[in-house]
Amino acid sequence: YNHRLQRAEKLKIISDLAASVAHEVRNPLQVTRGFLQLLSSRTESKDKPYFDLATNELDRAAEIITDFLTFAKPELDTIVQLDLIAEIKKIEAIMNPMAALHGGILEFSGEGDITIYGNSSKLKQALINIIKNSIEATGKDGVIKIEVLEDGKEAVVRIADNGQGMEESQIAKLGVPFFSTKTKGTGLGLMVTYRIVEVMKGTIKVSSTKGKGTEFTIRFPLAEPIPLPHQTNI
Ligand code: ADP
Ligand code: MG
Repeated sequence: YNHRLQRAEKLKIISDLAASVAHEVRNPLQVTRGFLQLLSSRTESKDKPYFDLATNELDRAAEIITDFLTFAKPELDTIVQLDLIAEIKKIEAIMNPMAALHGGILEFSGEGDITIYGNSSKLKQALINIIKNSIEATGKDGVIKIEVLEDGKEAVVRIADNGQGMEESQIAKLGVPFFSTKTKGTGLGLMVTYRIVEVMKGTIKVSSTKGKGTEFTIRFPLAEPIPLPHQTNI
């Protein structure tokens, strides 16, 4: 009981903070980023890495703010039919450079028409947070498999890595705000993922073995196919 109460209090504090601060902070970050890029383009090449570093750190700050904002307002603004495979291919393209930077690879499999209801940018955010963790959990020989398939009335997205894995006690804390084992971690990523999947009426399962790897299985209800308008020959 006590544990739950603490969690509820924490959640309330975070969402209040997020709603009031996030928007205000985002704008100056964007402006600063723009000027940095302008300066970088006028700067000698030996100094460019510093601009890149600064820009990356600004992006990191912006990501944290986006996570906070999603937490404060997880409702989907617009819900449309999503072509799940197309969405995940886009996400893979976004995450490939980060995987490459860590020396790992993303492997995608899945084909066909799998349609779910949801919001494209929220889905992106939810899955990117999982994939990012996988990349961070794996080293040079990291392989992150992303699989999309249909199972009965559900769409299944499976993200499996061969990274460091987790103990049972760690798995139990996933999605709890501020739970992080990383020095630069925020412990916000999966909390956001869990909320987004929840508002998209999906479920998440995690299985993990210390030293072997981790697998996230996300299930969404399939969208009912929209019947085509009846064709009449004139
Ligand atoms: P952060 O990444 O900022 O630490 P997250 O909410 O994204 O916060 O993740 C919380 C914690 O869950 C991580 O610090 C890590 O200990 C654990 N974790 C999540 N995904 C994985 C994974 N694929 N492999 C190993 N540990 C993971
Ligand atoms: Mg994370």
